[in-house]
Amino acid sequence: MADVLVVVDHVEGSVRKPTLELLTVARRLGTPVAVALGAGAGRTVEVLAGHGASRILVSEAGEYADFLVVPKVDALHQAVKLVDPVAVLTVSSGENKEIAARLALRLESGVVTDAVDVEAGGEGPVAVQSAFAASYTTRSRVTRGIPVITVKPNSAPVEPAAAAGAVEELAVEFSPAARGTRVVSRSARESTGRPELTEAAIVVSGGRGLGSGENFALIEALADALGAAVGASRAAVDAGWYPHAHQVGQTGKSVSPQLYIASGISGAIQHRAGMQTSKTIVAINKDAEAPIFDLADYGIVGDLHTVVPQLTEEVAAR
Ligand code: FAD
Repeated sequence: MADVLVVVDHVEGSVRKPTLELLTVARRLGTPVAVALGAGAGRTVEVLAGHGASRILVSEAGEYADFLVVPKVDALHQAVKLVDPVAVLTVSSGENKEIAARLALRLESGVVTDAVDVEAGGEGPVAVQSAFAASYTTRSRVTRGIPVITVKPNSAPVEPAAAAGAVEELAVEFSPAARGTRVVSRSARESTGRPELTEAAIVVSGGRGLGSGENFALIEALADALGAAVGASRAAVDAGWYPHAHQVGQTGKSVSPQLYIASGISGAIQHRAGMQTSKTIVAINKDAEAPIFDLADYGIVGDLHTVVPQLTEEVAAR
């Protein structure tokens, strides 16, 4: 079976869930070979081997943290040369998409971003994307070289699968450009204790219909009852009711959870662009004609100030 290179997203050795989903996708295409870079990369081994990684290439060089993306591109380029995979898979994120594009350029191949699945094909892996409020599904294939595909979080289940997990040190030779842009400071965002928006299995979002920033407490209470992340429409963010880091949509984050609850959100095309691939969409809106209902799997026509607390109470009672 052909090898599939999976780029590992981890924080100090703690593997993030979308990477485990990526290993599920990779197993459908061939034999996953993981590549983990940065501090703590060596600590990812046990988890990766438990989810199907046959080999794990590890490089803990300090360059990955000290400089922007080029050192990672150098490392992945060398990993590709070593493994010669049928595809490189990475989780869709701003940084990873930049790395994917730069890597594809070096490989003289092509990149497909924001896939919701990757299928095995006779002529190479086929990336599945969802477009125009999930009205269309496109399937595309990179026609030359080794495809680099970024896959959205929540695109596949996490499936444990024991594998050899043979560890190899990846000796990376950095290019002169690697040290071109130094990171001067980092600051951690204050933790809310809720899951990261783009990775959450459930997202509860609020819009202008909330009427005020204080009313986001209703959204947060429902989110906490469900163990969900909180999202917001741009109208709510522009009004200063919720931080921009939580904005869902064309100019915000793209989410693809199992369940998306939109409350007091009309369903503008720019909002849909960021949540249309959610598996199940529930809309709460007092206007039965709101466009969000065209997209929703379940719709509740009513005042969110009544419906959301009732929902929270019901969920908390279970
Ligand atoms: P509205 O459209 O005002 O809808 C509010 C809804 O709440 C209405 O449907 C109303 O019926 C309902 N409502 C009111 N009161 C209640 C109540 N008590 N109970 C229940 N329902 C109630 N938008 C994004 O969200 N994300 C983006 O990333 C984004 N990017 C954009 C980029 C560009 C270039 C442009 C031009 C626009 C962008 N927008 C984006 C803005 C987008 O066009 C909409 O203006 C925005 O999504 C509207 O937010 P909303 O649904 O909260 O507000």
